Amino acid sequence: MGEQKSRVKKAAEEGTKREKAAEKAAEKTANIDERQLEETAQAARLLADWYRRTGRELPWRKDKDAYKIWISEIMLQQTRIEAVKPYYARFMEELPDMASLARVPEERLLKLWEGLGYYSRARNLKKCAVQVMEEYGGSLPADYNALLKLPGIGPYTAGAIASIAYGQAVPAVDGNVLRVLARFLADREDISQPAVRKRAWTLLSAAMPKDCPGEFNEGIMELGETVCLPGGRPLCEKCPLEKLCRGRRQGMEEELPVKAAPKPRRTEERTILILQRETADGCRQTAIRRRPGKGLLAGLFELPSLDGFIGEEGVRRYLAEQGLSPLRIEKAGQARHVFSHVEWDMEGYLIELAAAKEAAGAGTAGEEAGGFLYVDSRQLRDRYALPSGFRAYRKWIL
Ligand code: SF4
Repeated sequence: MGEQKSRVKKAAEEGTKREKAAEKAAEKTANIDERQLEETAQAARLLADWYRRTGRELPWRKDKDAYKIWISEIMLQQTRIEAVKPYYARFMEELPDMASLARVPEERLLKLWEGLGYYSRARNLKKCAVQVMEEYGGSLPADYNALLKLPGIGPYTAGAIASIAYGQAVPAVDGNVLRVLARFLADREDISQPAVRKRAWTLLSAAMPKDCPGEFNEGIMELGETVCLPGGRPLCEKCPLEKLCRGRRQGMEEELPVKAAPKPRRTEERTILILQRETADGCRQTAIRRRPGKGLLAGLFELPSLDGFIGEEGVRRYLAEQGLSPLRIEKAGQARHVFSHVEWDMEGYLIELAAAKEAAGAGTAGEEAGGFLYVDSRQLRDRYALPSGFRAYRKWIL
């Protein structure tokens, strides 16, 4: 009896919570300009139809599989569709479902992610897969709010999965969508402001068609990627919204969206060491080392790199401190790599060390002085992920 009472009480509380959420949503909707809402709803319907007719065939769109949509959306966060395709195919071949992703060793996962950057996203994929196996029996939950609680899933990804895979009427707002909306509404507010993103979310959740939310979300993303292009060059004559679009009608489409300039990137000078030696059986090995667990490229392998341009003399001093005596040092050229907040200016040195006393043997690499791990080119190709920041020096090591 007592148990039944508490269940009833809990259900009543849940009901009140839902009512409050609905009231809040209604309150927000009430703040939206009626005319804007009407025009956006009309455009949303047109976009869903346009997408049904013209949407591109992409490997992750063949079925409405939540796992595939999730993986593709995470990969697409900083990379263009064409570049993602080969990564996606390779990833799916090896990790076709949640269970295989939850089981994969981290080193292998990072190798599959090599070249996509933002390695914390790959680590979060695995963390999320483990949690989904434990709490949801291996399927991503069919609910926007539950998705939001999972590692690495933010409002955009949760919206994409919930709407495309499960038909839940929630928007998926990213930079593409904000650009389209700013032009469509002729809105001059700065789209990098969280309040503008929030308003876009509220407007779209009220305006989107409730019977085909996935097609609408895919339609607006597709429009942003293929027609309402960034960089002031929208292809309005090909746009299904041309007649409705306020930005186009007012001749402002090329000036929008307004977006505050990002903070200038910090530049760091780095000296890159390509330390090589031969083993007793004539195999060439290169030293790699794990980066610190926090900060840029956390926990990933790198070619040993040092702060500043320290010159050949500095390199010799550093090697002596590590107990290494080089046979030869030559310059391996300069390179630059741009990360999201920092830029590396690099100066490389190719360093030949005395031969190792032992034969290479498969998988015998172990950490040595300086935290260096000496690996051959096959191991570098197949096993260890080297961030693309070191791409310019790959020709010396592969
Ligand atoms: S009409 Fe032009 S500016 Fe407006 S949404 Fe379409 S492509 Fe973008």
